[in-house]
Amino acid sequence: MNEQLKVSVKELHKSYGNNEVLSGINLEVAPKEVVCVIGPSGSGKSTLLRCLNGLEQINSGIIEINGYNLVDKKTDINKVRQNIGMVFQHFNLFPHLSVIENIMLAPVQLKKLTKVDAKKRAVRLLDQVGLSDKADVKPASLSGGQEQRVAIARALAMEPEIMLFDEPTSALDPEMVGDVLAVMKDLATNGMTMVVVTHEMGFAKEVADRVAFMDGGKIQEIGTPDEVFNHPQNTRTQDFLSKVM
Ligand code: ADP
Ligand code: MG
Repeated sequence: MNEQLKVSVKELHKSYGNNEVLSGINLEVAPKEVVCVIGPSGSGKSTLLRCLNGLEQINSGIIEINGYNLVDKKTDINKVRQNIGMVFQHFNLFPHLSVIENIMLAPVQLKKLTKVDAKKRAVRLLDQVGLSDKADVKPASLSGGQEQRVAIARALAMEPEIMLFDEPTSALDPEMVGDVLAVMKDLATNGMTMVVVTHEMGFAKEVADRVAFMDGGKIQEIGTPDEVFNHPQNTRTQDFLSKVM
């Protein structure tokens, strides 16, 4: 067990029925590292993120988060999960709660924070994502980009050590994308450990420490943005990049 690593995945295999979706994934993420995962639709990116969050039954392999083995029955999976924030393509805010109540909910329920402390934290987070003026409105009155920034604030309210993003800007109108990416870049700059599945190649180039290219349930290539984008070694990477860039 390497306590220096935030994420350590070894020979991860995951099937749905007869369909092997992850075919031997190896991935290590160091503290404060940002790894962007790119690759074609159906290559297993979302499944990998769900495995990291303990949301999937895996077939074989080892997944360690903060040194805790997710597969070990003695591991308190809920405790581990509280240290992982996850942001999806579709934001799933609670529609009947105000923005600030959405952000306060989990810390009050799961971390037993007092409402006063949870509110202080939520106010700070709303400022961080640039939405201080939206505390008391309902999610329905927000734009998609604003909703997604609230979703990020809500995930951060649990003070996670790792943030997982699954195509957080793919469902947004183009003019909303920049604000969400700016919040994510800010998080990265401030030392959050992040795994980001994205189609935003500009973001990956600029913000990632390493870029992983997935295809056919495998990480085909992983390296610095310069290595993967400018000097891809794998023909599948070359082919994918020629289509998206
Ligand atoms: P990506 O995020 O790269 O587009 P996914 O991880 O969503 O890829 O999917 C990888 C493969 O796993 C696809 O063939 C998809 O159809 C399949 N898959 C994903 N989730 C499920 C599920 N819950 N049940 C069955 N098959 C699934
Ligand atoms: Mg996906």
